[in-house]
Amino acid sequence: MIRYGFHMSISGGISNSALEAGKSGFRTFQLFTASSRSWKQNRPDKDDAALFSNYLKQYDTIPFAHIPYLCNLASPNRDVFNKSIKMLQANIDNCNELDIGYLVLHLGSHLGKGFGFGSHSIIKGIDSVSGSLGKLTLLLENTSGYTNNVGAKFSEIAVVVNGVETKNIGICLDTCHAFAAGYDIRDKGSLKAMVDEIEDSIGMDKLKLVHLNDSKFDLGSTKDRHWHIGKGFIGEKGFENFFSEKRFRQGCFVMETPVNEDGDDFSNKEALVKIMKKCGI
Ligand SMILES: [Zn+2]
Repeated sequence: MIRYGFHMSISGGISNSALEAGKSGFRTFQLFTASSRSWKQNRPDKDDAALFSNYLKQYDTIPFAHIPYLCNLASPNRDVFNKSIKMLQANIDNCNELDIGYLVLHLGSHLGKGFGFGSHSIIKGIDSVSGSLGKLTLLLENTSGYTNNVGAKFSEIAVVVNGVETKNIGICLDTCHAFAAGYDIRDKGSLKAMVDEIEDSIGMDKLKLVHLNDSKFDLGSTKDRHWHIGKGFIGEKGFENFFSEKRFRQGCFVMETPVNEDGDDFSNKEALVKIMKKCGI
């Protein structure tokens, strides 16, 4: 079974994200559990948290939390590293209070210090909070390969997945980031090579979420610019190829597509449904 949905706003309260997802028929969705632009991460209101849990059950929808982009566990700046740990801890606590089972984390930027420094720093950061994970699993997301960013290759992410103490660790595959990092998911052979790389270095069973986004820029651009499903450089044919891989014919898919004159959540949902139909899903 495929569950799909979108990143939902919490501007009307955290519970409202689950309600809106449920009413729209999204069987999965993503949210920030606090402000996405500030280091300060508020705790959820108790009544709002209770309502959120109720809506999850009522609509049988699976939530994924995403940590704000400020978080950079790979940073050589001690102040930023310490603030990132605090932010991670606050997000872990929020997820546990909200019955959220997965928290998506970007690996961050080593700012020129190199992959060895960055990966070591991330492992140290995750190990420092992993005792409080409870039932929560951290999902490391692949990045677009922009200068100094850690985690554009799955073999890099594997160093962190296999290096941390906790077993509550998995991955999130972003199709736009993978494409921007040079994985040509439009092509059968390249797609298989990517799946093999994940399987051999991490294990496909660790893949718990796909961020399904088209790319505004061409293969290998290293630019993180999500675009409307079927209208970017991955294109309809590219996604058809993606869904031909049996491992991508089930699981949770969250779109983080833009809302602008070229499309919105409704048009992206329609585009995905059309592609899935064509693929016999
Ligand atoms: Zn993403």
